[in-house]
Amino acid sequence: MREQTSLSSEAVEQFIKAVGSANVVIDEVARKLLSTDLSFQPGEIADIVVCPADSKELSTCVTIAASANMPVVARGGGMSYTQGYQPELPGSLLVDLRRMDRVIEINTEDMYVTVQSGCTWKKLYEALLEHDVRTPYFGPLSGMYATVGGALSQNSLFLGSGLYNTTAESALGLTIILADGAILQTGSAAHKNGQPFYRHFGPDMTGIFTADTGAFGIKSEATLRLIEAPEVTLFMSFGFDSLEAMLHTQTILARKRICAECYGFDPYYNKSFENQGFTFGEGLAVLKDVATTEGGIKGL
Ligand SMILES: Cc1cc2nc3c(=O)[nH]c(=O)nc-3n(C[C@H](O)[C@H](O)[C@H](O)COP(=O)(O)OP(=O)(O)OC[C@H]3O[C@@H](n4cnc5c(N)ncnc54)[C@H](O)[C@@H]3O)c2cc1C
Repeated sequence: MREQTSLSSEAVEQFIKAVGSANVVIDEVARKLLSTDLSFQPGEIADIVVCPADSKELSTCVTIAASANMPVVARGGGMSYTQGYQPELPGSLLVDLRRMDRVIEINTEDMYVTVQSGCTWKKLYEALLEHDVRTPYFGPLSGMYATVGGALSQNSLFLGSGLYNTTAESALGLTIILADGAILQTGSAAHKNGQPFYRHFGPDMTGIFTADTGAFGIKSEATLRLIEAPEVTLFMSFGFDSLEAMLHTQTILARKRICAECYGFDPYYNKSFENQGFTFGEGLAVLKDVATTEGGIKGL
């Protein structure tokens, strides 16, 4: 029989009461899988994993963990490789946010979207496209699985970054579960009867909780800015004789603000294609398939 969690049955019962037994993971193999990121480095295995459905359930779980003195780690789509969501200490609670994947409000009047943090970029992109809008930054290349909360926490960049920079710059407000389980709202939604379309409501509290890899709190909801979706998307690719020439061209493109995404393979990446047994040309062909599917992310 597989080894189960070392948590007391009383503590397990509390988490089950908070999120339901189907959303509590105590099986050791499953906990190990969820505690290991794409670096595949060995680390601590969470004592228990919970999958809350909303801010309230998440807050309850963090409150239970805080009163039991358990370290809490957030996990989004699990697409990172920097040991960001691998527990560092024994006896940790891992919060798997993928069940919190609802698009809560699409407001094309005030041009914002509010989404649960476990929503993938792909799901969000597709929901917004029905309204001919998108977020300025609209996901990393891993956006089929990577979540809004994960990208905000690592301040990812890629789709849309050529014009609109990193994930954090598309954020207008966040709902944060603090270490004691308290719920904090940032941005203008924090105002009594306020709407979430304005990032500054006093000092920029939203900024504090972006690019924090979840160290300052767990994002349960995010409000992101909207822009009109482009009517046409076109792609071009170029080869360069040197890294310097490529970087010089990318710098010009960035200054002129004419490219939503601008991605280059340096000699190190070219080499790693070859090391994996296929030529750079073959690697580019795969990327071309991804890119030429309208909207890029759809190609994933
Ligand atoms: C094939 C591939 C392509 C990639 N492409 C890109 C790319 O184009 N651009 C790029 O920047 N990165 C890229 N990455 C890296 C990574 O996928 C991104 O950084 C992605 O945004 C991580 O999101 P996630 O939901 O998977 O987060 P996770 O990997 O689950 O977590 C990342 C970090 O955020 C924390 N976290 C997650 N959710 C929350 C939350 N709700 N509240 C608080 N903290 C949280 C975790 O604790 C962890 O520290 C790529 C990775 C792969 C494997």
